[in-house]
Amino acid sequence: MADRKDSDSRKLLQRLRDTLSARRDGQGRLDQITHDIADSMGSQVCSIYLFRDPETLELCATRGLRAEAVHQTRMRLGEGLVGRVARTGRHVNTADAPSEPGFRYMPETGEEVFPSFMGVPIQRLGEKLGVLVVQSREARQFSEDEVYGLEVVAMVLAEMTELGAFQGSNADSLPASHRFPQMFRGTGVQEGAAEGRVWLHEPRVVIANPVGDDPHREKARLLDAVTTLRRTVDSLLADADMEGGGDHAQVLETYRMFAHSRSWLRRMDEDIDLGLSAEAAVEKEQSQARARLESTADPYLRDRLHDLDDLANRLLRILTGQGSDTGAEMPENPVLIARNIGPAELLEYGRRLKGVVLEEGSVGSHAAIVARALAIPLVIHAGRIGSEALNGDLILVDGDAGSVHLRPEEPVATAFRDKMAMQAEAQQRYAGLRDLPAMDTAGNTVQMYMNAGLMADLPSLGESGAEGVGLFRTELQFLIRSRVPQRGELAGLYARVMDNAQGKPVMFRTLDIGSDKVLPYMKPHDEPNPAMGWRAIRVGLDKRGVLRMQLQALIRAAAGRPLHVMFPFVAEIGEYEQAHRILMEELAREQRLGRPIPADIRVGAMLETPSMAFAPRRFYEMCDFISIGGNDLKQFFFAADRENERVRRRYDTLSTAFLDLIAQIVARCNDAHVPLSFCGEDAGRPIEALTLAALGIRRLSMRPASIGPVKHLIRRVSLTDLRAEIDRGREAGESNLRPRVIAWLSRQS
Ligand code: PEP
Ligand code: MG
Repeated sequence: MADRKDSDSRKLLQRLRDTLSARRDGQGRLDQITHDIADSMGSQVCSIYLFRDPETLELCATRGLRAEAVHQTRMRLGEGLVGRVARTGRHVNTADAPSEPGFRYMPETGEEVFPSFMGVPIQRLGEKLGVLVVQSREARQFSEDEVYGLEVVAMVLAEMTELGAFQGSNADSLPASHRFPQMFRGTGVQEGAAEGRVWLHEPRVVIANPVGDDPHREKARLLDAVTTLRRTVDSLLADADMEGGGDHAQVLETYRMFAHSRSWLRRMDEDIDLGLSAEAAVEKEQSQARARLESTADPYLRDRLHDLDDLANRLLRILTGQGSDTGAEMPENPVLIARNIGPAELLEYGRRLKGVVLEEGSVGSHAAIVARALAIPLVIHAGRIGSEALNGDLILVDGDAGSVHLRPEEPVATAFRDKMAMQAEAQQRYAGLRDLPAMDTAGNTVQMYMNAGLMADLPSLGESGAEGVGLFRTELQFLIRSRVPQRGELAGLYARVMDNAQGKPVMFRTLDIGSDKVLPYMKPHDEPNPAMGWRAIRVGLDKRGVLRMQLQALIRAAAGRPLHVMFPFVAEIGEYEQAHRILMEELAREQRLGRPIPADIRVGAMLETPSMAFAPRRFYEMCDFISIGGNDLKQFFFAADRENERVRRRYDTLSTAFLDLIAQIVARCNDAHVPLSFCGEDAGRPIEALTLAALGIRRLSMRPASIGPVKHLIRRVSLTDLRAEIDRGREAGESNLRPRVIAWLSRQS
């Protein structure tokens, strides 16, 4: 019985394949297919509905319903049973369609005489393409085998759609996939607007033949490919073990588990029995994993489904011989689309990219840091753009709003270009301020510094007019490598940074790893709360070898020039004292070895925990400079994780409580005559920057692109007056000073 079912299914799929290879137009193929399916399943009706636009389905071919309804009957996503199948991505199987919730009667189709209904989604890797329906006069429920068989047929239809089988000269009335304008709302990580052409980081695998002739041969091909896959995973795992394990090894362990999973292989074998080719069977499994991924919120399960998805991709590449490099030429103004990307890969593309759009990612990810360094607009969490976009599609990325327009309509593109032109104009205005000081109307001057972490940042030092680098995040160099860099390598790099800075000061911050910044080669310590865990100076003091190595590299890089070193995440004076002592020991050691020591060495601390606002006076006196790490300070002050989208915008920097803390730090620094700067993200936000400057912080360090807008605003106002306004708000007991600051600003000419 099962064999008969299999051979019927195979015959049907082979007929579909013949239809695919026959010289016909798209409509002719669809008509033939509905005929073949109805015939093979012994049902009176078979209909194919395809998406006309992302919200509307259209009856595109039918066997059994009225021919006049073709291209006339339309329904919205979620409307009627067909719309329900499309929306949920799940089949509907009923002996009595009119009694189903949501049923909608379409009189023009004449379907009232067919009470039984089975609809399955036509979807490819989670991308919804349409719905395939069979109906029959006899009121019966279709069997599980029939549902499964129709899903296999729908899979082949999805592949045929992808191959363009339903387009053609006489098929203009047919909707085509990958043609609609689509908008994606994500999260903007790096501001800026960009227009460009899509460049897929991982091009899709094309399955030229979804139907297999000989199940034995297809199963043997699949087994061969799975064996190769297992071997690759095993050898990757051996390499990872050699390098000390880590996260990477854990992921590979999961890969190995899936690659050896019998049920995975068995399900694919069953699909082959029904007539699919080996690659189509893999893709069917992958589609199902993606559908489950959509409906799963559990982060652990989502990770595992991702692993399975990655593995299926590898298997498909082995089976089809298609690598990531398709030989296609990168467009002139590429916008990179990827599910996720590592910092090193992104850096490799470099400044060529006009924009980056990721389906996943996080605000504080390493890729985000690189995108910021390169000043490339970046949007993350952009839905399933990777399966929608095709290489070369026109795309607009709005990093400020976090939105992406794929294949935009002309009015959208025009409005977007106007916005870009306005931004370019503003940039030019800011460029005109480059060599002017950030001096307010009362004669107060604020020093404008920039944040950096990669060599790629350094050109911005001249372009932005920054007076120095207020924060050089040294961990980025560690993050983009696959192994710990050597001392000589680091010394060379730091020397180049100083060369490029041409005498402008660079505040090198020692490694701030741990928390969100986990090195690929570092054994992860499963910490329940890593932001408050073993990170930054805590790691440095416990693993002194690395700290000493980095300090030696910095001293050697300076080679007699002045050097600024800053310790991150100091939470009590003792930590600073120890780190300071280690630096002094290294200095003495270098001197003993007869190496040149820096002409001048300034040692500072980052103030990132509220505890240091209350530190003994001695701490302030010991520091040559202090820099407020506002990102961390704010997260600990409000107990709100800076990486957590649910809470990270919940508390305002301009809340009186936080500004009071800042004012206290300013007062303590003034008292001890220690220079103070602020290097968190808020330093680059004009209103926040203005408020911080009014409170007495006279050095701000920010991303280079923010220097123009912040300087522009400072030059228009009196910080002394703003300070008085802020004090009035504090005295009046206001809990948030933003409304007052904005109202005051709007009164300034
Ligand atoms: C900060 O915490 O504000 C800071 C500048 O350091 P990072 O963002 O690298 O933690
Ligand atoms: Mg910090």
